[in-house]
Amino acid sequence: MKRVAVVTGAGSGMGLAIARRLAGESHDVALFDLAGDAAERAAAELRTNGASAIAAAVDVSDRAAVDDALERVRAALGPIGIMVTSAGIDRFEAFTDITPESWERMLAVNLTGTFHSLQAVVPDMLAANWGRIVTISSSSAQSGAANMAHYVATKGGVIGLTKSLALELAPRGITVNTIAPGFIDTAMTRRAEERGDVPNLDAIIARTPVRRAGTGDDIAAACAFLCSEDAGYITGQSVNVNGGWYL
Ligand code: NAP
Repeated sequence: MKRVAVVTGAGSGMGLAIARRLAGESHDVALFDLAGDAAERAAAELRTNGASAIAAAVDVSDRAAVDDALERVRAALGPIGIMVTSAGIDRFEAFTDITPESWERMLAVNLTGTFHSLQAVVPDMLAANWGRIVTISSSSAQSGAANMAHYVATKGGVIGLTKSLALELAPRGITVNTIAPGFIDTAMTRRAEERGDVPNLDAIIARTPVRRAGTGDDIAAACAFLCSEDAGYITGQSVNVNGGWYL
């Protein structure tokens, strides 16, 4: 059945792949991103391919901006049935170098931004007695990651938020799951590789059991299933899409 889906961080990387996949499955899609021009380009591409798609420049850490953009989605496409939160930032800083400002920004985007995105759409889903929520956490929240204490703390928070909300909403036909990606080849990881914050891609592939980097499409495939009618008995789960790492 066709639904209205909102994807945050949809201008790039796995958010973009998820938006494409959901549009390909005939859902109407709203693409939110800090980079409004990237979101608009992606929405235009989806419209060219026959989908209903709109874009909005949104900083997910700004609740008023999230609420305002969602009102425009409801007016254009209708109530929201699917929310996927892929907007996120990373930073690599030794623990003693993390400033309070850096810590606060990481929390504001990755954790509070997820909270804003979910709290603002749950009333639509409660009214419909149906909903699908997928957050994006990280395998690093299971393993830990040196020089990423702030990032990993936010991703652990996303997992806790997801599992708690799943229990609250389960009786109402709404599922809430998180995808924990391993190393996925996106703009975020390419930038980290260029800065020397992560080993080069070949070294990562050599350590990955399936012997390739993950792609946005790998994440999108898992996400599309979690958003489907068929996934109604799956909630509160952390789905690891990591090529076999950390099992
Ligand atoms: P990406 O290509 O950088 O995409 C993230 C998108 O989020 C970008 O378009 C970015 O916009 C946007 N964004 C950043 N801050 C935002 C804000 N405040 N409000 C709205 N949008 C914002 O990275 P990705 O690899 O696809 O990452 C997607 C998610 O997966 C992130 O939450 C990341 O932490 C998580 N993750 C990634 C990996 C990996 O290996 N790639 C692994 C585990 C988890 P700008 O480009 O303008 O900043």
